[in-house]
Amino acid sequence: MPTSCLPSLSAGRIGSYGSRKKALLIGVGYSDRPGFPQLRGTHQDVRRLKRLLERQYHFCDITVMTDEDHVSNDLQPTHANIIRQLANFYEGQQPGDQFLFYFAGHGMQIEAVEDVLEEDFKDESIISSDAIRILDNDLKIYLVDHLAPECRLTAVFDSCASGTVLDLPHHRCNRVCGLRNTVRRVVRQGSDVSVELGKHFLSLSDVVKTAMTPILSLSPDIMRRAGPLLCSGFCLPSTPSVENIICISACKDSETAFESEDGSNTMTSRLIDLLEKESHPTLKSLMHTISSSCADGVRKVPHPQLSSSCPLVMESSFLEL
Ligand SMILES: [Zn+2]
Repeated sequence: MPTSCLPSLSAGRIGSYGSRKKALLIGVGYSDRPGFPQLRGTHQDVRRLKRLLERQYHFCDITVMTDEDHVSNDLQPTHANIIRQLANFYEGQQPGDQFLFYFAGHGMQIEAVEDVLEEDFKDESIISSDAIRILDNDLKIYLVDHLAPECRLTAVFDSCASGTVLDLPHHRCNRVCGLRNTVRRVVRQGSDVSVELGKHFLSLSDVVKTAMTPILSLSPDIMRRAGPLLCSGFCLPSTPSVENIICISACKDSETAFESEDGSNTMTSRLIDLLEKESHPTLKSLMHTISSSCADGVRKVPHPQLSSSCPLVMESSFLEL
């Protein structure tokens, strides 16, 4: 085994007892798919991400699926092929294994007919190269429900309507946007001020959080109004942190992901640019970076999202295992 493939020996939570690193990277360009605009950056983003994972994070088991002529039939990102790869993704998983799933392509929302847990009554989905939807409910089964607790998944979706595409329970409490924007939104929407401000609780300094915790815990009315099934934005991270799934999405469920005309400016390209300079930025810094410079002055600016299986410590390091 080449030295670059040896298990991680860093002093992280899971990696401290060694782990396998496996990735599934999917980039769909839809060049000959009527009804779906061609995406020009997806193939390049997949290639760059593969290189980064191999060289910088020592992933050795990487499967790449792209709709390019030179790619074999079984690795074309059709619905059937993606489902087959998802079904086998965690095969043989052992405690400490780390997985990374990446999708770049089209995504969309549809009315949720059976999923009562969708806050907006819509299911999110990704679109395969043969133009078939893969619903968030199915992605959750394959990527979330089938992951062993002692393993870790990092997922990245550079696609439209991807904010809660894995249906993970926490997203509001991971937001890093500024307090000024929150106040502006409260005023504009007439939202409940206490609930809205709660979304920023975790972006405050530890000193302020510690001071505010007893106050917030004495406010059951705030928690009730946030809803029993929803991430209230007040969620407190466990200590020590045991989160095992995080998902970075290019935009909110209601938004369109951004790609410049030549495909060179995407959320993925900004993410890779950052990680090439800094292997383990804090989650907070990462979200700030990928949220910037994603506009062409014409289309609506998307807001990248970070969802997770547990409330996150935003000062913890990305892929630090
Ligand atoms: Zn939460």
